[in-house]
Amino acid sequence: MTKKYGLLVAATTFVTMSFAQQKGDPAKTEVWQPVPKEVSTGTPFSTPPSDAIVLFDGKNLDNWISVKDSSAAKWEVKNGEMVVNKKAGNIQTKQSFTDYQLHLEWKIPANITGSGQLRGNSGLFLASTGGGDAGYELQIVDSYNNKTYVNGQAASIYKQSIPLVNPAKKPGEWQTYDVAWTAPRFNEDGSLKSPARVTVFYNGVLVQNNYELTGETLYIGTPSYKKHGACPIKLQAHGDPSEPISFRNIWIRNL
Ligand code: MG
Repeated sequence: MTKKYGLLVAATTFVTMSFAQQKGDPAKTEVWQPVPKEVSTGTPFSTPPSDAIVLFDGKNLDNWISVKDSSAAKWEVKNGEMVVNKKAGNIQTKQSFTDYQLHLEWKIPANITGSGQLRGNSGLFLASTGGGDAGYELQIVDSYNNKTYVNGQAASIYKQSIPLVNPAKKPGEWQTYDVAWTAPRFNEDGSLKSPARVTVFYNGVLVQNNYELTGETLYIGTPSYKKHGACPIKLQAHGDPSEPISFRNIWIRNL
């Protein structure tokens, strides 16, 4: 066995093990058709408005903490970017938010390897309702000539809503998400008063149009809601073995 092959087996085993901890069949909630049409676009304007809270300006992770133990976020900051540290796990904002407008830029590395969900997988959790991947995930993954289930491609609301089109850029190019998020509201008894709604522009193109979520996004099973208030914004360190992705220029406006 070559060293490279051994590493791949080890990485694959790690991914399989972490998935296997959950019961049920994840394929049951995968949708493969229709495939969103590909569209090309320029790079949208992205300077933070004067009333925005800047969550990452390329200098440090002062506004972020590690999800697993609330310690300082340990992703790498270099060249004005933050780079996912898969060992350190998910990070989230110190501050909590309810309804907001958010801008975020992300880049799949030019040398990305892997396929399907195991190719630059990360995610923007629009509200982090707990540890791990709890919350509502706007998927991040390489969707440039990379086939996967369409309710799990970039700009999907993971396993809930297929993006309207696919404006993905090549690995190595910066991409943008602009999001308007309306948090769900709950009655005192914990029942749902009004669902979460989300509008997403991906590279300046509308891909989610006031979509009403059916609950928190899940890898396995049927989504449902559980009561929560204001929540942090979370970024995913996915356990796939592909090269880590980068983020820059993240800002938010409370609504
Ligand atoms: Mg993800």
